[in-house]
Amino acid sequence: MVYHFGLIGYPLNHSISPLIHGEFLKMHGLQGDYQLIPIPDDDQKDWKFRQIIQKLKTGELDGINVTIPYKQSLLPYLDGLSGDARLVGAVNTVYRSNGKLLGENTDVGGFLTDVQRLVDLKSSGSGLIIGAGGAARAVAVGLIQNGWQVNVAARRIAQAQQLAENLSERIQKYSSIPSPQIRVFDLLQFQTILTELSNQLKLIVNCTPIGMLGKASRRIFPPGVLINKEVRVYDLVYNPPETDFLFEAKQYGLQGLNGMGMLLEQAARSFEIWTGLTLSRPLSNLYTLLTEGAR
Ligand code: NAP
Repeated sequence: MVYHFGLIGYPLNHSISPLIHGEFLKMHGLQGDYQLIPIPDDDQKDWKFRQIIQKLKTGELDGINVTIPYKQSLLPYLDGLSGDARLVGAVNTVYRSNGKLLGENTDVGGFLTDVQRLVDLKSSGSGLIIGAGGAARAVAVGLIQNGWQVNVAARRIAQAQQLAENLSERIQKYSSIPSPQIRVFDLLQFQTILTELSNQLKLIVNCTPIGMLGKASRRIFPPGVLINKEVRVYDLVYNPPETDFLFEAKQYGLQGLNGMGMLLEQAARSFEIWTGLTLSRPLSNLYTLLTEGAR
């Protein structure tokens, strides 16, 4: 069998997903390809989505990943959601199951697997998520599943409020987890947030594109911030390997990790869903290859 996978989103020019999935195929001695399918957010979008859906239904495509800005807008085209996607309300993986097209969200599991290199998830605490978009929702769900208290700081507080309300509803509807109390903050009030969360705060996760290659540099911490050195930072951004946020955090003596491990783990989960195969862990050789490639 020759597998055909793809990625929809826009823009896609920096994506390393074809390289990652090419390595996964090699690891199992399989034939296949992973195409980048850029879809600009214009009036052709609906027609293009329908074409992709048709290809998935007929087997011309065996599965797709979905990235910015379509993780939520693709939902109406699918027959249903499974697992974590029901809690998050956004998908990054589409697959065929018994003739139906289902959406899953492997960002949750990808994040949880990788962040454990930095914090002990079992000893729950308080996490602060920066940003309130699709990835923030996945990170919030992952921390809540592990009994963490979640706080979200965004530049548009209305977006953070909407995230908090929507996730609470979804978690209540689709899981047996007690309804979470997600606190929301204005990102500009950073020192106030730290003071309020005090020594409960164990982890800060950047879920914005701040510090991504090609984006203007911007600080997350205000100058002279007072922060407990035990706090760990995780940046979903992975290119460059030492992101602006990790660099800033280092100045305050904080340990951190970039999102390359999460990228790899979420991709591995998508591959396993599409093929029904299991990739042998750890994926450290591939991690090294990608990390060296990004330097
Ligand atoms: P998204 O849905 O577009 O959300 C981005 C969030 O960041 C929004 O809340 C946005 O606020 C905020 N934001 C953007 N620029 C900002 C700035 N300069 N200052 C403050 N807030 C800002 O994107 P996403 O899907 O959540 O992805 C976020 C980042 O995570 C991207 O860089 C993506 O590549 C990365 N990511 C990495 C992985 C991985 O596996 N490592 C997985 C998923 C995502 P506004 O709405 O106000 O702009």
